[in-house]
Amino acid sequence: MSFESLGLSPNLLRALNEQGFQTPTPIQQQAIPLVLAGHDLLAGAQTGTGKTAAFGLPLLQHLAARANPTRKPRALVLTPTRELAVQVHDNLRDYGKYLRVPSTTIYGGVGMGNQLTALRRGVDLLIACPGRLLDHIERGSVDLSGIEVLVLDEADRMLDMGFLPSIKRILARLPKQNRQTLLFSATFAEPIKQLALEFMREPQQVQVTPKNTVAGTIAHRVHPVDAERKRELLLHLLARDARVQTLVFARTKHGSDKLARQLENAGVRAAAIHGNKSQGQRQRALADFKSGRVPVLVATDIAARGIDIDQLPRVINYDLPMVAEDYVHRIGRTGRNGAQGEAISLVTQDEAKLLRQIVRLLGQDMDIRDVDGFVPKTPIRWGNSAPGKAGASEGGQRPPRKHTRRPHGENSRQAQGAHAHAGAGARKSNEGQAPQQRRRRRSR
Ligand code: ADP
Ligand code: MG
Repeated sequence: MSFESLGLSPNLLRALNEQGFQTPTPIQQQAIPLVLAGHDLLAGAQTGTGKTAAFGLPLLQHLAARANPTRKPRALVLTPTRELAVQVHDNLRDYGKYLRVPSTTIYGGVGMGNQLTALRRGVDLLIACPGRLLDHIERGSVDLSGIEVLVLDEADRMLDMGFLPSIKRILARLPKQNRQTLLFSATFAEPIKQLALEFMREPQQVQVTPKNTVAGTIAHRVHPVDAERKRELLLHLLARDARVQTLVFARTKHGSDKLARQLENAGVRAAAIHGNKSQGQRQRALADFKSGRVPVLVATDIAARGIDIDQLPRVINYDLPMVAEDYVHRIGRTGRNGAQGEAISLVTQDEAKLLRQIVRLLGQDMDIRDVDGFVPKTPIRWGNSAPGKAGASEGGQRPPRKHTRRPHGENSRQAQGAHAHAGAGARKSNEGQAPQQRRRRRSR
């Protein structure tokens, strides 16, 4: 199958050719004809499957097909984060290189000036984060009454981040008649379906990968470690392959800052991105990492979400994510296009329960190995169902030990209950629990 056979115009085909895109990805094959035909669409596919072009190409084609005398935007793409807005905008500019589709981004954390100027001058295509877009709506600096196509990109994450009320307020400003609505998401939880029911008309649905799967080319490895030695172990692993580009995930903004500083102090070039950094800092960090100037990027889930980094060879979970699905999002960055990828998780007793949830979600064993010199003082109690098979440890063999304290193995959810790791609780106080992960964060 070729892009040509999907019904795309020669000007798009030429740009795609220059991008080196030869064959549409599965989501593109399915979505593009439906979007070109004007359908509403619910599209599900994991990270890295080419969703941007799946909505972007037919969107650009639609916009380029006629001139816009009104100066009012005709298409709106909503994204959860500023980085993603910038990235989608960059991608669409590349794809639309030979078309005339004026566009701009709207996001918080930067001054209003440039955005106001762009809006006054008039654009066809807006790529926006919900928070700042609402600011513009309130100031009357944007008129959404001419929107013909709405795209919700990473819709699941927008809801996770608490943007539902903002999205609804924005939707209330859009024309209801003759509007095409496209919703892209890695997963389709119930609230997404609700949103679709409420705001879409007879949506077609495409789902190209079973949800919560990751590329088969990724090696998932777990290194058990005592909490107080995590950082040392990270340094050890980074030092061992010093030039492997590595994305390190930490749970909190503070934690990722601190970690990046500590890495720098230890002689490892590292940058951090998270929501408390200025837009400029985030973009610089990302650019340095992408260019390879800084080999290690420490990120929180939200900041890293949706950022496309080609062929990332290694992801290290310094902290496991509080939500198992985020593991899939984190790891989605490696092993793309059949490349080999490595996903390493440093797991303390406190995180045994999270690891079990991840293993259950993936439906795949993990290779659990001790690292020489970092064997936990007390072997990790994995609970009733060990989360993975033991690999050959780098020192001696040491299978994960099952703990006999909880004999009622039939109910593993119960078994992971609150005191599954009472002994290690002391360290936890400042690490943050679920609310940290789920905290609302506006994209400003
Ligand atoms: P998603 O939004 O699903 O996470 P992206 O749209 O960011 O994925 O695309 C992931 C990567 O794949 C990008 O680097 C993009 O340039 C590349 N890509 C997308 N479509 C194709 C294609 N048809 N052929 C080759 N590379 C592609
Ligand atoms: Mg995307």
